[in-house]
Amino acid sequence: MAEIKTIGVVGAGQMGNGIAHVCALAGYDVILNDISQDALDAGVTTIEKNLSRQLSRELISMDDMKAAQGRITTTVDVAPLERADLAIEAATENREVKEKIFETLCTVVPKHAFLATNTSSISVTRLASTTDRPERFIGLHFMNPVPLMKLMEIIRGLATDQETYEMALGLADRLGKTTTNAEDYPAFIVNRILVPMINEAVYALYEGVGTVESIDTAMRLGANHPMGPLTLADFIGLDTCLSIMQVLHDGLADTKYRPCPLLVKYVEAGWVGRKVGRGFYDYSGDAPVPTR
Ligand code: NAD
Repeated sequence: MAEIKTIGVVGAGQMGNGIAHVCALAGYDVILNDISQDALDAGVTTIEKNLSRQLSRELISMDDMKAAQGRITTTVDVAPLERADLAIEAATENREVKEKIFETLCTVVPKHAFLATNTSSISVTRLASTTDRPERFIGLHFMNPVPLMKLMEIIRGLATDQETYEMALGLADRLGKTTTNAEDYPAFIVNRILVPMINEAVYALYEGVGTVESIDTAMRLGANHPMGPLTLADFIGLDTCLSIMQVLHDGLADTKYRPCPLLVKYVEAGWVGRKVGRGFYDYSGDAPVPTR
C-alpha cells in the first residue's frame, strides 16, 4: 500500500483544526485548507492553544509541539493539495458544499490519493459516487474535540475497497484512536443515538417541561452524563445538530426524527452555539448564562 506522508484537511473549523492537530503530532505533513482566511487564522490559534495545553500537562514535549507546528501549512487555495496522499474533508455539514469540494479535489489531488469525509450524517456512498474514485473513498468520523476523544468511527461506502479500509485502520492506529465500524446509514452509530436525544432535550425546553439549566442538570446528575444535552448541543454546533436531524428525517422517513422548531429557530437566528458565542447559553461572560 502507498505510504501516507501528506494529509490535506479541507475545512479549518472545530473539527478540521483538531484533525490537523492530531495528524501533525503523529508526524504527517498537513495542508489545512479553508475558503476563509479568518477560519484558517482561528484554526491555527486553536491548534497552538491546544498544543500548549498538552505541553503544560506533560502529554507532549516542547520538541513534539514545535515539530507539529512546523508540519502544518495553511492555504485558501486548493492547489497545494496536489501533494496530498489523503484528503480529509471537514467542511460545513451540507451535502452540496461537500459534493462541490470533492468535485474540485478530484481535479487536484494525485490519482493514488485517498479521499475521506468527516461528515456526521451524510451518506458516504452518495458522496463517494460523485468522485472519480469511489473505491478509494471512506468516512472517517472523528469526535469533538479531536485531540481528546478516543473514537474514530469508520464508515465504508458500498464501493470502498479493502486497501482504503486498511489505510483508515493504519491511520487510526498512528493517531492513537480506537475505531468502530458503522454501516453507511444516516448518522451512523454515535449521532443516530446522540442527536435525537439532544433534539428531545430541545423539545423538553420548547414544551416547557424544564428550563435550560434544569434539563442540563437533570441529565448530568440523573443520567450521569458528563455534560447536559443543551450544553452539548452548543458544543457540537446547533447548525450541525439540525443538519443531522434533517438527514435522519429525510433518510429514515420516520416522524420521530422531526427537528424541534425551537432548534430551527435558534439556527435561523444564527445562535448556533459556542463557535459564535451564543446558543442555548451566552458565552460572552465568565460563566455561561441561559438564553431563555
Ligand atoms: P465548523 O462550522 O466549525 O467549520 C466548518 C468550516 O468549513 C468553516 O471554517 C468553513 O469556512 C469551512 N468551509 C465551508 N465551505 C468550505 C469549502 N468549500 N472549502 C473549504 N472549507 C469550507 O464545523 P465543524 O463543527 O468543524 O464540522 C465540520 C464537519 O465535521 C461537518 O461535516 C460536521 O458534521 C462534522 N463533525 C462535527 C462534529 C462536531 O461536534 N461539531 C463532530 C464530528 C463531525
